[in-house]
Amino acid sequence: MQGKWYKGDTHMHTTNSDGKLRLYQLIDRCKAAGLDWIIVTDHNKNTIPQSYSSDGLTVIQGQEITVHAGHVNIWGAKVPDEPPYEIPDADAYAAIMRRCSDAGATVCLNHPFCSQCGFRVPIDALPADCVEVWNTIQHSDNVRNLDWWVAQLKAGRRLAAVGGSDFHSDIAFLNMIAMPTTVTFAKDNSPAEILASLRAGRSVVTNKPDTSMIELTVGEAILGDTVPFAAGLVGKCRVTKLLPGFELKVFNNDRVVYSHKAKRYEALHEAAFPVTERGFLRAQIDFRLGAGLKRAVGYAEHKYLAPRCETPAPTADALFWAFTNPIWIE
Ligand SMILES: [Zn+2]
Ligand SMILES: [Zn+2]
Repeated sequence: MQGKWYKGDTHMHTTNSDGKLRLYQLIDRCKAAGLDWIIVTDHNKNTIPQSYSSDGLTVIQGQEITVHAGHVNIWGAKVPDEPPYEIPDADAYAAIMRRCSDAGATVCLNHPFCSQCGFRVPIDALPADCVEVWNTIQHSDNVRNLDWWVAQLKAGRRLAAVGGSDFHSDIAFLNMIAMPTTVTFAKDNSPAEILASLRAGRSVVTNKPDTSMIELTVGEAILGDTVPFAAGLVGKCRVTKLLPGFELKVFNNDRVVYSHKAKRYEALHEAAFPVTERGFLRAQIDFRLGAGLKRAVGYAEHKYLAPRCETPAPTADALFWAFTNPIWIE
């Protein structure tokens, strides 16, 4: 497929719900961050009536359905129902998600295992196109999102992963725009092409617009594509900006078929490896938390991200810095 990589953010709030920036301020910040597209997802409200382009930045209409049962992003079309939404259980959630899909929307399960506002109904059977594996600044809840998503992939479900900054405001000195960034391969950055590429899983999620990128291929196939299985199949990856101590892993299903821990900063790291099983191939960059950093992250998680949790989930030993969607091997 002809195209290029476009950087964006799937999940952003404005003053039309509980965000701190007005829409034009948010758009200015996203242009300054070098993004190609964003989706505006205010709580239970469509802030923009339809998608448009602002000096090359594609601004896609959206809404975050925000109810006690869990949060779902609706992209590219309006929610047919009017809030307040009555969504007491998974069946009711599935029904409204189907109505959104029928109206032409792309549907995403948001921060499913968030300690504070994750799903309170079973999610395995919800009819979503995408799942937000990485929500806001990296933390342990996202590892649980990733584990659930990988289990879905192993079961053969082609559910595309995305990241979303869930931007409300900056946090102290941290610029929270596009943290994380979803980088997606598309013909152009029109709303239809960006949403199609998100649904197809042609995306990489990385910490910020200017951090590591992972390109994973099998022959001509890229993320989201399907390759027929054959003996001697070889995958390749090309990683930029690998930081010291960070570890690249390529998985063929459960099996690690390539791993590399950077001893020093590597502007470019390239590798080839065998693909030996039907299923999928995906890549991920991890960094381990030493004892001191783990204590600091644990403190921040319990204080800021899960302040109302009686039993906060334990802090992870390692977090991911970037990951790809799979290439399917059939
Ligand atoms: Zn939410
Ligand atoms: Zn949100």
